[in-house]
Parts: sequence; C-alpha cells; structure tokens
Amino acid sequence: MSDVLSTDIQFIKGVGPKLAQVLSKKGISTLEDALYFLPRTYEDRRRITKCRDLKPNQNATVLVKVASQREIRLGRKARLEVVAGDETGRVMLSWFHAYPTLKEDFTEGNTLVCFGEVKFFRGILQINHPEYELIRELEKGKPKASLNFGRVVPVYSETEGLHQKTIRRMMGEVVKLSLGSLDDSLPEPMRTRLDLPTLRTSFKEVHFPEECPKENEVSRFLKRIIFEEFFILQLGLGLKKHHQKTDKAPILKSSNSKLTQFLKSLPFDLTQDQSLALKDIEKDLERNFAMSRLVQGDVGSGKTVVALASAVIAGGNGYQTALMAPTELLAQQHFRTAEKLLPETGLVPLVLTHSNASDPDVQDSIRTGRAQLVIGTHALFQKGVKFHKLGLVIVDEQHRFGVEQRNALVQKGEGAHLLMMTATPIPRTLAFTLYGDLDLTLIRQKPANRIPVFTSVLRDRERPKLYAKIRERLQRGEQAYIIYPLIEASEKLELKSATEMYEKLRKEIFPNHSVALLHGKMKADEKDRILLEFKNKQYDILVATTVIEVGIDVPNSTLIAIEHPERLGLSQLHQLRGRVGRGSLKSECILVADAFVTERLKIMERSEDGFEIAEEDLKLRGPGEFLGTRQSGLPGFRVGHILRDSHLLNLAREEALNLLEKDPNLNASENKKICLLVESRWKDKLVRLKGG
Ligand code: ADP
Ligand code: MG
Repeated sequence: MSDVLSTDIQFIKGVGPKLAQVLSKKGISTLEDALYFLPRTYEDRRRITKCRDLKPNQNATVLVKVASQREIRLGRKARLEVVAGDETGRVMLSWFHAYPTLKEDFTEGNTLVCFGEVKFFRGILQINHPEYELIRELEKGKPKASLNFGRVVPVYSETEGLHQKTIRRMMGEVVKLSLGSLDDSLPEPMRTRLDLPTLRTSFKEVHFPEECPKENEVSRFLKRIIFEEFFILQLGLGLKKHHQKTDKAPILKSSNSKLTQFLKSLPFDLTQDQSLALKDIEKDLERNFAMSRLVQGDVGSGKTVVALASAVIAGGNGYQTALMAPTELLAQQHFRTAEKLLPETGLVPLVLTHSNASDPDVQDSIRTGRAQLVIGTHALFQKGVKFHKLGLVIVDEQHRFGVEQRNALVQKGEGAHLLMMTATPIPRTLAFTLYGDLDLTLIRQKPANRIPVFTSVLRDRERPKLYAKIRERLQRGEQAYIIYPLIEASEKLELKSATEMYEKLRKEIFPNHSVALLHGKMKADEKDRILLEFKNKQYDILVATTVIEVGIDVPNSTLIAIEHPERLGLSQLHQLRGRVGRGSLKSECILVADAFVTERLKIMERSEDGFEIAEEDLKLRGPGEFLGTRQSGLPGFRVGHILRDSHLLNLAREEALNLLEKDPNLNASENKKICLLVESRWKDKLVRLKGG
C-alpha cells in the first residue's frame, strides 16, 4: 500500500478525530478503506425540473427562490413550512423541526437547489426534508455543479452521526487525494485484452460517475475493482498451490501395490465417480511432490473405500497411512470396515484413540511400521506418536479439523501426501474461494443399490401421525432418531426443552420402548457409549441434538424426525437425513415444521442431491451464513459478492491460472506490480503456509 493510501482518515480535510471515530464503526480508518467504501446507489441530479413539471412520487431537483417561511408550533415542537418557486410555479418544502440554520438558509429571497421525493398532499406539491444547497451565484442562470447537485450523486450507507453530505464531502477529498497514488497493478496486456478500465478511472467513476448506473447494475468500473479483488485472491491461492507442488513426497505407484486384488475382493463394484476419484489420487501419488486433494462426496457416496484403496497403494510401496476421523466412534467404525475389507491385501490396520494412545505395544507397532494403516482421532498428531515411514495422510470430515492439526499430522512424515474428504458439499463458486489451493474431486453418484429416503414436511399439529409412523417402524424391529436442534443463543433453555421432550417421549408416548438422549454437553466417552448401545439395538429411539451429524452409521435406524427444521440450514438438514437410508431398508425423513412451511423445506422433499441442496442453501442464506461461524474461512471481500459476481470470480480464476502457467513465480517485468500486491495482501497467509 502506498503511503498516501495508508493515511489515517482523521487527517483528511473536514474529518477530524470525532468523525474518525464514527467512521471506524464502518471499518474505515485509512484513506484506502474509504476508497473501498462504495456508494450503495446513485441519484441523478443533473437535470433541474421546473416547478410546473413536478410529478408526485418522483425524485426531483428544483432551483427555487424562497417566497415565504412559516413556523408552526405544536406544543414544544415546531415544524417549518417554506413556500418557494421558480418562474413556472411553486412547491412547498417542509421539515418536522424548525432548527435555526434551516430557518436562516431558507430566508425569504434566498436561492437554493433542493432535491427530494415530490408528494401530493392536501392539494399541493410538497417535498419533505429535501436535501439542499444554498446558491450564492449563478453561472448563465444555472448553479455551479457541486458534490451534491448538478451531477450523478453517490448515496452511501449511513450511520448515526454520518450524513450523506458529510460522507460525500469526505469522499470528494479522498478520491482527489488518492487518485495520484492509484497505480494499476493488473498486467497491462491482460487489462487491455479484457477491456478493463484503469483503477484510477474506476474509482473515480464509482464514487462520482459521469453517467448514472442503472439500478442493481454492476458498472464496468465496479467490475474492474471486483475483478482485481478476485484476481488477487486467485493468484494467492494459485501460488500457494504452486508452492505445495514443491513439497517433496514419495512416489507411490499403484502397480507396486495390491490395488487390483483389493478392488476385486470388494463385495461391490466401484461407482464410476469412485473410480474416477481413485484415478485422480493414483496420478497424484505417482508424482514426487505432495498430493493436496479434497474429495467432496455426499453422505453415503462411498468415500471410505476410496480412502482404503489409497492406503493400499501406500502400503504396497512400503509406506504407512494415517487416517484421521473427528470422533472415536467414527475411527472405530472405519477400523472395522478396514478389518473387513483389507484381508486380501495383507495390509495391517490399527486403531489409535486416546484410550490406547499410551499403550507401548500400540506405539511400538506404529514406530516399527508393523501397523501399515493407523486409524485414529486427534490422538494421531500428539507428540508421542512416531511413524516409521508415513507416506499418506487421510483426513475424514476435514472441516472438523484446523489447518494446524492437519499439518501437525503431515509433519510426522518426511513429506507425506494429503487426502482430505468431506461430506459437506460446497458449491463451486465457494469451493473456488475456500479451496482454490487444493485439487478438487467430486463424487456425485451414489452406489446403485441405495434406496432413496422418502422426505416429508409435517405440521406440528400432525404430530400424532409422526408417532404412529415411528411406532410402526419399532414394531418391525427398526429404530428411529428424533433430532432436536439447539439454538446457540439460548442453548441452556433449549437443552431443557430437548430434555423435557425426551422425558415426555419416554414416559408418555413410547412407554413400552427404550429411549436414549444424546447431546453435546455430555462427555465424549458417554456420547460414544450411547451411540454404540444404540447401534447394538439397546435403544429403539435416540433423541439427539445435532451432535449426531457426523458420519455415524446405524443401518437399522430407518426413520429420522427433525424438530424445528427451520433452525437449520438445508445442508445441515441434508447431513442429518444422511443418518438414515444406510442399509437395505426403506427409510424416511420427517421434518416437523411450525405451522408456517417455507419453500426452503420443500427443497428437501424434492431433492436428495447434496450439491443441489448446497447451491440452494447458499443462494438463500448467503456465504457467511452458509458456512456458519464455526468455519468461516471465507476471505472477506470488500466489494465482490461471490454469488452476484460469480462470473467475474470464474474469469479471475481462469486468468490467474493462465498467468501462473506462463509465469509461475510472477517474475516477468509486466507482472512485478501484481506480484507485490498479492504478497502484501496475502502476507500472513503465505507465510503461515510455508511455516506449516
Ligand atoms: P461416506 O461417503 O458417507 O463416507 P461410506 O464410505 O461410509 O460413505 O459408504 C457408505 C456405505 O456404502 C458403506 O456401507 C459402503 O460399504 C457402501 N458402499 C461404498 N461404495 C459402494 C459401491 N460402489 N456399491 C455399493 N455399496 C457401496
Ligand atoms: Mg464417511
């Protein structure tokens, strides 16, 4: 950032410490911040309307002389009414408070330009609370253009104590002062090819445009600013990705392994998407630099077997694999799957959790390499765990782990490949901004034998129908989930109502069945115990908060009822629904909504495609909400909206990748400036990456 752009806003003419404080609430503390504080909309005040041509319910600018002024007292308050006009007619101007400067400005005989919405009231045309400017002299019968009149005027979002005229005055200064320092960083050939205006012109035009942009239109000048923002992000991600390609990792050849035997021994054929995902991984593993791939696949799309196949490749080449899962139960579940599917390959799996992490035998078999596939929880990256030759790290439900945790595990090897898996599909646009530094693979298809889950929305008053359905399932020996989502803000209260509901279900509604309760405030081992007991059919019904979301597999549980579905995002509902439909039995999901059923929930009845649901969810809630506070790794854009401007994001990504292909380190002279800009914006993030 140039020195000028980093100037403290309080030193700008007309700002000062008091206003600076108000501005800081808007996130404006430097000249550059102000420059990026863009108008919300514009008003065209170029044309002056004659009084005779005024029409009700339209915005208009008039040039009038004050004919009379009247103060109307109502108790302690005083309104002000001014009659003013030009040679064609008159208009009434009025205010609720007759404060002194106003009375002075509208003294009889004064000339002013006024702008506002014209209303027709009691038979006369009026403008209430017009914006105005006192005119001292005219040029050829016209007022001189100012920041507020005789031009297309920017309208900024206001804050208490910050008025349009004040912001405009400041912006006039800001733009004037910064233009000289606004250097174009985009490589010139690219800027010309894409027909993008210069940064200087763009900022000037966005704040004080020549032509009035249409409502809701992104002008080409705004586009230019947004493009740059996206472009820098994409270049940063691209560079990060490029640096990763220099991280050494062992060459793991599929041909050295028992991959073919493994695939043959499976009780099913891989789906096409599973095969393609595995092909991507095979290619990555055969190179001498580290894989960094994210496999996104809906719940039940069969990611585990792809992970196991990758471990088979590593094992065949004499390297160990670490598979990390977010909960002990999931780790156990993966371990059992591994035990079942791996015998043909001779690969030895081992489960590592907090309960056996300090067992010398366990540590020994990891250190000597006897355990070729180590499946575990967070225990995996603890200090005491030493690998013989770690070549592949697989992180299941990757969004549950931080970057540091992931890296801590990778660093247990001397260069290990990294495979991440997630069952939370992320729409393309979002994936580009969040995971642009990773290679992405999608598993969209589900195994063919999957029976669709029938989903319906029930009203609260149809509850008896819900209980009847559950009863029917239980009579057939099946099990059910009842989910009660908590709202963070009133978690205590809500937990009480979840508990009350559990008591009621247990004592009054299903007295002849066993019901268990599971919630986030329980200790990890208690949660695991209850889930395990549920899996072993010791309970018929599991009442749970959303803690149940991740990965648990109980095929005999065939019905899931979700209370207050309106509290959850669509993607979260979809995740929850994924708890059923996991066996050969027909399953059902029931959303128990308040009387008011929203369109949103209907999408759940219609679709079982996690990607489609995620797209809808993103559209409805916006990126911030969609990702939730828990993992808002989303970079804050100052001007771009990833949804509205998704075409620009795609363009920026394409351009960034092309540029890096030709000039991977941005060394060419025409790329020097953009390189500096990327470095300054990405400073901490690129460093953190290198430092691990
Ligand atoms: P997720 O992607 O949610 O992790 P899993 O890997 O747990 O899904 O797989 C869900 C179930 O589907 C498992 O029981 C698994 O054995 C089974 N499965 C995986 N791939 C196939 C396939 N190609 N055909 C049939 N069943 C499959
Ligand atoms: Mg899974």
